[in-house]
Amino acid sequence: MKQRITLKEGTALLASRKASSREIVTALLERIESLDGSINSFITVQREELLRQAEESDRRRAAGAPLSPCDGIPVAVKDNIITRNVRTTCGSRILEHFVPPFDAAVCRRLAGAGLLLLGKTNMDEFAMGSSTETSFFGPTRNPYDRERVPGGSSGGSAAAVAAAMAPAALGSDTGGSIRQPAAFCGVSGIKPTYGRVSRYGLVAYASSLDQIGTFGATVEDAALLLSLICGGDPGDSTSVERPVDFMPEDLTGELKGMRIGVPEEYFQGVSAEIVERIRERIGRLEKRGAVIVPISLRYTEYAIPVYYLIATAEASSNLARYDGVRYGYRDGEARSLTELYTLSRSRGFGKEIKRRIILGTFSLSSGYYDAYYLKALKGRRLIIDDFRRAFESADVIVAPVTTTTAFKIGEMIDDPLQMYMSDILTISANLAGIPAMSVPAGLSSSGLPVGMQVMGDHFREKVILNVARAIEEDGEPIAPRL
Ligand code: GLN
Repeated sequence: MKQRITLKEGTALLASRKASSREIVTALLERIESLDGSINSFITVQREELLRQAEESDRRRAAGAPLSPCDGIPVAVKDNIITRNVRTTCGSRILEHFVPPFDAAVCRRLAGAGLLLLGKTNMDEFAMGSSTETSFFGPTRNPYDRERVPGGSSGGSAAAVAAAMAPAALGSDTGGSIRQPAAFCGVSGIKPTYGRVSRYGLVAYASSLDQIGTFGATVEDAALLLSLICGGDPGDSTSVERPVDFMPEDLTGELKGMRIGVPEEYFQGVSAEIVERIRERIGRLEKRGAVIVPISLRYTEYAIPVYYLIATAEASSNLARYDGVRYGYRDGEARSLTELYTLSRSRGFGKEIKRRIILGTFSLSSGYYDAYYLKALKGRRLIIDDFRRAFESADVIVAPVTTTTAFKIGEMIDDPLQMYMSDILTISANLAGIPAMSVPAGLSSSGLPVGMQVMGDHFREKVILNVARAIEEDGEPIAPRL
């Protein structure tokens, strides 16, 4: 079997009976065995259960009744997505031993199509971070350079796909947690429109921003996996049912006459090499017949303060449930209820989580609410209006994803503000709720992946995937040397 098996190839192998699910699963488990010791993508892999499910899938297919063409293909799932009977830690000590009694809506959908759970992937604690360094389970390393971060917070999922340990993976994106690691690891990652995918069973970080999305080694794979998880769900009142118009056959890469907006603000403070690379790729889109439209997203500079006020405010409320009483870590030394809360939370949560709970609680407190939280909401409105105006003259927006390529482990971890600043190009899409993706645009001179961002108006996943497809076709495929 080839070293890398994409979702599409796996589906073809199974359909032609050239490989069984058991063989695919075995090959991937061997790859994880040999590589993950130095990458640390996975927090949990349930070998025996996985092999058992693969055999079940093989039996379904042998009986002529596969649940879908993808029946029997395993995918990796970020560890903040609830999995029944499989430990779900959110990368935190406070949930180190938490085994949920139910499945997230996305996991139910995947299981309904016969896909298998390959494993749960490493992440920044409670999805707060941009490097996967805040995980209680140790950092994930970038497959292109083990001294560097894979990005975050879905770093484990991105690295697993980049290293071909998983055909595809699920992640979550509150402020860039799919796109930034996809960019750092050289894979495709899409954050769909807010509401496209049910978040029932996604452990909440900042509910007005959180969205589940997908990683693939190709744009097609990211789209295919997304098509399997989207749709309305009574378990998430913000989810909606919309037609899936982005199946592989819908993605032609045909761009003639398409208006591609290029926001000047997204090229400021970005490394010269990334700017040059993205501009060169924009030139190639123009050669395909797209019309390049300069646009302005003038409130971009406020995105960081707006996001870090709203996200922390929501987090401070969402994380109140970890109190040592109902589930999760309970401190054994506590002698009173107050001490139980204090000790469980102060020993269960890591430093970054505490920083954010304190920040969020502060900005919501009486006397400060108007000055901070309310003001942030007004800023959010300005950013939403920015996009509304932009989509009057452009069908899609392209830009860099990150200001630099993958940075070194330890380089930024002690400077939270600088770490927050690194989200400048991704968080606006979450504030506006629009779909956005990262697609590889080649390697830097030092051999690190460069990501190109494509953003579209609400529910225009098809357009962004189509442009991403063209970008992918315009360059050589990249892969880490492992
Ligand atoms: N880096 C951002 C944060 O720390 C975004 C994280 C995310 O999208 N989950 O909040």
